[in-house]
Amino acid sequence: MLSGIVSLAVAKEVASAQLSAQKTADEYFRSNANYTISYDISTRGAVEGDIEEFRQIVAEIYADERGWLRAGVKMEEVESGAQAHVILASGEEVKKASPTICSDELSCQVGQLILINDKRWMNASDSYNELGVSLKDYRRMVVNHETGHYLGHPHIPACETPNGLGPIMLQQSTGLRGCTPNPWPLPNELWVKR
Ligand SMILES: [Zn+2]
Repeated sequence: MLSGIVSLAVAKEVASAQLSAQKTADEYFRSNANYTISYDISTRGAVEGDIEEFRQIVAEIYADERGWLRAGVKMEEVESGAQAHVILASGEEVKKASPTICSDELSCQVGQLILINDKRWMNASDSYNELGVSLKDYRRMVVNHETGHYLGHPHIPACETPNGLGPIMLQQSTGLRGCTPNPWPLPNELWVKR
């Protein structure tokens, strides 16, 4: 009986936590708006990656139903007048975009710029490579993570349960922190506030 009451209390607490998470999400949630963000593709600095391959992979990631599309975000490539600039950049150029925020080792988002660090694009990260995760999944993760910042998401420091799927806004490139690598936004990350 007592354990029944306790589990009921726990269930209530979980329900209220879920409700407050949902409320936060609802404040920004625009899945019904189905709005479009235009972007263009370019490179900055000396990069090893191929721009046409980059263009194609980014388009595939944005068109994937496991990605930000689930939050109602339709990313559309345009030739001019883009809202967002998705850039394959040398480490030097990433850092130059905002020396106080960005490092030459990682990818970064600054204003309209979604900067994918060429070093990471070509080599993934130690955190992913140590676990034998594919470069394809690393690329999905890093594009979705930086795009998540563009959509208004801050970092998330941990996964909900030990070994649980890492939130897309966890800094998976610098360490999994006990989470399972995951290249897609989790259900409770499907909101935008742009
Ligand atoms: Zn980040």
